[in-house]
Amino acid sequence: MNAKIAVLAGDGVGREIVPEAVKVLRAIGEKYHHTFEFVSADIGGQAIDKVGVPLPQDTLALAMQSDAVLLGAVGGPKWEGLEYSLRPERALLGIREALGLYANLRPAKVYADLVDASTLKREVIEGIDILVVRELTGGIYFGKPKGIETLANGEERGFNTEVYTTEEVRRIAKVAFEAARKRRKKVTSVDKANVLESSELWRRVVIDVHKGYPDVELGHMYVDNAAMQLVRNPRQFDVLLCNNIFGDILSDEAAMLTGSIGMLPSASIGAKVGLFEPIHGSAPDIAGKNIANPIATIASAAMMLSYAFQLDNEAEAIEQAIVKTLDLGYRTKDIQSPGASIVGTAEMGDAILRNLT
Ligand code: NAD
Repeated sequence: MNAKIAVLAGDGVGREIVPEAVKVLRAIGEKYHHTFEFVSADIGGQAIDKVGVPLPQDTLALAMQSDAVLLGAVGGPKWEGLEYSLRPERALLGIREALGLYANLRPAKVYADLVDASTLKREVIEGIDILVVRELTGGIYFGKPKGIETLANGEERGFNTEVYTTEEVRRIAKVAFEAARKRRKKVTSVDKANVLESSELWRRVVIDVHKGYPDVELGHMYVDNAAMQLVRNPRQFDVLLCNNIFGDILSDEAAMLTGSIGMLPSASIGAKVGLFEPIHGSAPDIAGKNIANPIATIASAAMMLSYAFQLDNEAEAIEQAIVKTLDLGYRTKDIQSPGASIVGTAEMGDAILRNLT
């Protein structure tokens, strides 16, 4: 296949980890005879320094004309004093909105070699492989009316609205069922249907969409129970389907099961172009030292192959290379373990490249 990939490395460690992911994608292209065209552009603080805004028009145009976007991270102390609308992080909101990214996919997978990095017991987390599918553009974060008003008695009242339409639930449910088909074919839909009407509709629509996916098992769980089950028995989950606010909370909880932020990829899916990025930020405390872990970004590239291009075998090849590299004892500083050899960012990228079979 031919694909054009927008490469937005951004700031801090973004400039070190993104080239490693590009290296791996190039190797996959050669090996499997795909033509990937990589086009780089500025975003975040780096763009502010060059042209005065965090998300230049050229960058946005490139993203919209590409088949997928690979993003590093934005932000850093240098730009913290800027007015809010000019901060590097504004670029993230801008690009997500422009690309209409309504689904966020965050896997939480515990690699066998890193089980001891988790704060939970080995027997609880060994073998977990969860995908949180979070609705990203609806729900209580965007619902209207919202605001803070002053009542006649002088007291203030703050309010937000949890709101979902049938179509919004339908499209995110489809993403979850499609993702489950690439995995263990089990979706757990999270709601609060015993209390919230919006959840009642959510559950009804999910059940309806499920009729088109008879090969996928569907279960429902109240959000309070889901939060508890994630630390009690996380292995029961394959795909967790969540609205915006529940997904916000549960995806962080699921991420922390695995122990290291440098290992966690993500995908955001929209009507057309998807965006793939590590969940961590620009890590200014370790930037420029060749010690950042590139695995989250390399695994984000694997998600791109699977979710943007339907290249599941190629994605699996990257996953296997990561597993093998960890098996061989390669560790960046953040995941170091007794007896393992500590390697730098580029060396970890090279090792994964060598282990692509
Ligand atoms: P962070 O994720 O950058 O760092 C948190 C901690 O994790 C730090 O100790 C860092 O060294 C470590 N870490 C992060 N990525 C790592 C990696 N790949 N390998 C090893 N260790 C890693 O979060 P923060 O410190 O709160 O934010 C730093 C900057 O990043 C801020 O300007 C923030 O606004 C921005 N940020 C950007 C994004 C994004 O671009 N998507 C997300 C979060 C934060």
